[in-house]
Amino acid sequence: MGLLTGKTALVTGSTSGIGLGIAKCLALEGANIVMNGFGDVEGAQAEIAATGVQVAYHGADMSKPAEIEAMMAFAADKFGRVDVLVNNAGIQHVANIEDFPVERWDAVIAINLSSAFHATRLALPAMKAANWGRIINVSSAHGLVASAKKSAYVAAKHGLVGLTKVTALETATTGVTCNAICPGWVLTPLVQKQVDAKAAALGVSNEEAKKLLLGEKEPSMQFTTPEELGGLAVFFCGPAGNNVRGVAWNMDGGWVAQ
Ligand code: NAD
Repeated sequence: MGLLTGKTALVTGSTSGIGLGIAKCLALEGANIVMNGFGDVEGAQAEIAATGVQVAYHGADMSKPAEIEAMMAFAADKFGRVDVLVNNAGIQHVANIEDFPVERWDAVIAINLSSAFHATRLALPAMKAANWGRIINVSSAHGLVASAKKSAYVAAKHGLVGLTKVTALETATTGVTCNAICPGWVLTPLVQKQVDAKAAALGVSNEEAKKLLLGEKEPSMQFTTPEELGGLAVFFCGPAGNNVRGVAWNMDGGWVAQ
């Protein structure tokens, strides 16, 4: 029997990258999974179903509060309630502030920050009633320190760390905890785009661009993996995590230690 057998985890943006990795680790602990996100939905669902748990999918656009409400109602209807909520969906846009498209700013804030507020406010009543729940916000090293050209992303990820702390305080006397995970570089489609942009801008190979990207930020010169991040999520869900509240835990190869 797994740590999460009989429980349900909803992971936003779980059709790819970090969300898919975390969903798989929670499924390996026995949690039924509600998936969300775009792209190769069927492939991602099959990957989770292969662990033997029940899988459901809702295609809510996390920039739209009404669709988030529909997703949370769908999860409650399907599995009774959401025990573990992983707010992971996110996008990036890279530009100087004066050139930053207003529509991109709004989208990054909506998907990377406001969606976590909406999913959290909708998940909390049932978690509090059950006196058990785990809310895990996927922030970033950019939730702790900044980089140029990432104003919306850095603002959203710092905001997510703030939301994590408030959620932890408001649940402090209950069996519900809320914590943030702050990854450094993880080689997902979101980061591959930035590798491609660097390779094109500098006229270097893909491998060279990866080294340059890591070298700018990560003393370890290694990408963090979705599985490593999933391991931390499992720790937050386990009994040793019962009184871990409001932390923003970086897994970043030393990025913010500098
Ligand atoms: P990814 O592009 O591989 O996955 C993003 C997921 O979010 C996908 O499932 C996508 O379909 C989904 N998504 C995007 N917009 C959505 C929307 N409007 N509604 C619903 N789903 C939507 O990216 P990733 O690297 O796995 O990123 C996952 C999270 O991790 C993001 O919040 C990102 O900011 C964060 N993060 C990533 C890194 C990294 O290096 N890759 C580092 C730190 C934090």
